[in-house]
Amino acid sequence: MPNKQEFSLPINGEALTPQLTFAVTNPATGDVVAQCPKAELEHLDLAVKAAQKAFSGWSLTSDAQRQQMLVNIADDIEANAESLAALIVEEQGKPLELAIGEVMGGVAWTRYAAEQEIPVEVIEESEEKVVELHRRPIGVVASITPWNWPFMIAIWHIMPALRAGNTVICKPSELTPLNTIRLVEIMSKHLPPGVINLVAGSGELGQAISEHSGISKIVFTGSTSTGQNIMKSSAHNLKRLTLELGGNDAAVILPNTEISKVAGDIFEAAFLNMGQTCAAIKRLYVHESQYDEVCTQLSEIAQKQILGNGMDPETTFGPVQNPNQLNIVSNLVKQAKADGAQVLCGGTQPDMSGYFYPPTIVRDIPNHSRLVQEEQFGPVLPIIQYQNVEQAIEWANDNGSALGGSVWGKDEDQVNAVAARLECGVAWMNCHAQIDPHTPFGGWKMSGIGLEFGLEGLLQYTNQQLMYRKR
Ligand code: NAP
Ligand code: MG
Repeated sequence: MPNKQEFSLPINGEALTPQLTFAVTNPATGDVVAQCPKAELEHLDLAVKAAQKAFSGWSLTSDAQRQQMLVNIADDIEANAESLAALIVEEQGKPLELAIGEVMGGVAWTRYAAEQEIPVEVIEESEEKVVELHRRPIGVVASITPWNWPFMIAIWHIMPALRAGNTVICKPSELTPLNTIRLVEIMSKHLPPGVINLVAGSGELGQAISEHSGISKIVFTGSTSTGQNIMKSSAHNLKRLTLELGGNDAAVILPNTEISKVAGDIFEAAFLNMGQTCAAIKRLYVHESQYDEVCTQLSEIAQKQILGNGMDPETTFGPVQNPNQLNIVSNLVKQAKADGAQVLCGGTQPDMSGYFYPPTIVRDIPNHSRLVQEEQFGPVLPIIQYQNVEQAIEWANDNGSALGGSVWGKDEDQVNAVAARLECGVAWMNCHAQIDPHTPFGGWKMSGIGLEFGLEGLLQYTNQQLMYRKR
């Protein structure tokens, strides 16, 4: 176990130590990882003032300067990857290998943001006039992040915001704030004071951020209900919003699919990060001709997982991050049983300290069961049997969540045709939950507003300015 570490609030290039703190818990043991400094409204005000002051200089730095600083930050994160990953395991719970992947993903997204160019669009260049569309930074951007991929999601928000010339205040989840504090400390070494700041605290602090008139944009990743709250309370100064919200992704396996070829990938995509992934497969639709085969193969893979502390090299499956989420998952499984479903494996808490729940496969579940209709966000997958593909498409689309979806099968044309009919932001084919820095990502319906990644993602951190000159 590493020695107990000390944490402060990085605001305006300084390390603030407020009087209040709160405990951050290791979900694998229930032990306290560290005390996290708790920001009060006065700290939020300090951070906003610092970010506003820094904006006037930062927004005028050249693209090349900002690009170089992001490259330096990426190098520094990479140099600290091991300790950052260990801290992620301690407070978030995922196995170390996955945490290293999270940090290195963050490095890749930072390097990508560094390379991005902000285009100027020439709309008209004629004898009478020159009309161009330019992109300007918005101002102070607040980033509010969840507890599932806390480090990578913070990077997804912060890096394009800075690249475009904004200054940033981040608020990590109170359940996993420590890795983001370390991230901001690293970044602060490479940036002018006030360009990046962090306040830690609970949802109340998030609420105060949404209401703050010194903040011009919020980029939020989290639940749909919190996204709705943010939208309401940020209306008074018409904050720009990017909302990446919950998902209840459907995967449809078409008849005649070679199951042994896809079972491993489907398991991975459903149980990635113990199922606590926005775009994990959360409902699996399988044709009656292959239903038993799919259920059996997935449950065999599930039973091979080794539950344990993420720092233990043998562990392939960590705990659920917090007791509240564990309750949600275990209640949805109980309800599914009451609806007539059969639990093939898992389904009960093991006798271990921490918030463990084994990978759970549920079959013979009616489509109306809450486990199918709601986002479980944890280690359980309901498998629903369908009789014809039209019915599967209808069930897949009949849900308020619409982040991603996938179709699996042999015939490329058929896979493509069905995927094109899915009502969601990303339609994957023979894969699921694949993301890249250059591929725009975002949800439809109740899964969000706006996009992240790629050029579209970057432009969400800008205001358009039309430059209209008469010759
Ligand atoms: P959450 O409860 O909505 O919390 C997310 C963040 O919002 C936390 O920092 C939270 O602070 C803060 N918050 C809570 N109440 C707030 C309020 N009234 N105003 C402003 N901020 C507030 O979500 P979660 O349980 O952490 O995350 C799980 C959800 O995130 C799932 O639904 C998942 O699908 C979704 N998600 C979506 C994506 C995507 O890209 N679409 C990616 C990852 C996760 P505290 O935690 O400190 O209370
Ligand atoms: Mg569900």
